[in-house]
Parts: sequence; C-alpha cells; structure tokens
Amino acid sequence: KSITIAIDGFSSTGKSTVAKQIAKHLGYVYVDSGAMYRAVTYYAMQHGFIDNNHFNIEGLVENLKAIIISFKFNKDVGFAEVYLNGVNIEDDIRTLEVSSFVSKVAEISEVRQKLVEQQQQFGKDGGVVMDGRDIGTVVFPNAELKLFMTASAETRAERRYSELIERGNTVTYEDVLQNVQERDYIDSNREDSPLTKAKDAIQIDNSNMSLQEQFDKILQLAKA
Ligand code: C5P
Repeated sequence: KSITIAIDGFSSTGKSTVAKQIAKHLGYVYVDSGAMYRAVTYYAMQHGFIDNNHFNIEGLVENLKAIIISFKFNKDVGFAEVYLNGVNIEDDIRTLEVSSFVSKVAEISEVRQKLVEQQQQFGKDGGVVMDGRDIGTVVFPNAELKLFMTASAETRAERRYSELIERGNTVTYEDVLQNVQERDYIDSNREDSPLTKAKDAIQIDNSNMSLQEQFDKILQLAKA
C-alpha cells in the first residue's frame, strides 16, 4: 500500500537527502516543498519585487498567478528537478542570496496558500515523500508517517556550507550559520503555519547519525 511520508524540520537537517533515498527505494514521488518557496523567491528577485532591502510584497502577491512551478524527473540525478515557468532553476535557487530572502517570502499567507494547494495535489494519490516545515501539520495532517528531523545548528551549518562550496559558491561558514539561525527563527515564529512538530510525528535527531542509519530507521518506520 502506498503511504504518504511527511518529513519536517529546521533548515539543513538533511531532510531532502534522506527523503530522496527513501522515495527512490519505495518507488515513490519525492517533492521538495522548500524548492517551491525558493522558486517564488527567485521569481521575486528576477522581477524586481525584492531589490536590495526593498521588498514589494503587494506586487509579488498580485503576480502570483504568473508563477508556474513544476517538477520534472531527471534520471541522471535520480530525482525531480524544479522548474519555474518552464525553466530549470534547480541550481539558481540554492544560493545564499535566495536562502536569505526565502523565509520572508514564506511568511506571506497568499504564497503559502498557493503552494500548499499544489503540494496537496501532488500527494492526492499517496506514494509520496514530501519534506518541508508544515507537511505533517498543514499539507498532509493525515499522513501515515510523520517525521521531525533535528540536529544542532552548527552541524546543520557545516552541512549547508559544504554543499554550497561543492556547488561553487563563495561563502563563509559564519554567514551560513547566521542564515540557518535566522531562518530557524523566522520559520518558527511566523503567524501562518509556524514550524512545529506535529503531535504524532516521530522526532529524529541526526546530529550523530550516518545517512545509512537514518535511511534504515525511516524505512523500518515506513514498513511498520
Ligand atoms: O527546505 P528549504 O531549506 O529549502 O526551505 C527553504 C525555506 O522555505 C525555509 O527556510 C522556509 O522558510 C520555507 N519553507 C516553508 N514551508 C515549507 C518548506 C519550506 O515555509 N513546507
């Protein structure tokens, strides 16, 4: 039977890495909900709704209909990459610049409403692994398996830092740590759907767990 697996947690807890592996193993669809918030942010930057320190929320909200987000499976990388109005933006949305604005975009109720609706469509037939901040609480409150991933801010910043360097970005560890902490704060304190553990979610602290250990544990829970 195909179930829905909701994986929530703070930034850079390694949710997407393990979620992709689990989806692949079970033959499920993996959806990176954070990529959708990043796509809206990238759109806002490209169209001048975010310009240095000026953020034109009204302008962005008025143009939400023009933002078409889709995913297309890339067999070379083994997961579905994100597209904005038909253009692959998988790499463009992972920059520290997008990361520094995305939590502010994710505070906008109209943005959340649009993306949650699409996420629910993706998952309507089950057989989906989705990671994010509100998947077990808002998007799929009836998910059969809910996980809440945690790790220390330093562990998470180190992971994100290595990832950014690997992708060829020039960043400092301190800037990445600051960004991770800022996003934790905004994500946990916003009015609309703040990041919190669903009552029935199973918490996994992976600070000292290998990817294999996380994979084994989640798979065991999925089969139970
Ligand atoms: O998962 P990722 O770190 O790429 O998410 C980027 C940002 O998008 C988060 O910091 C959060 O502000 C927002 N987000 C959200 N709800 C989700 C997924 C992501 O608010 N379900």
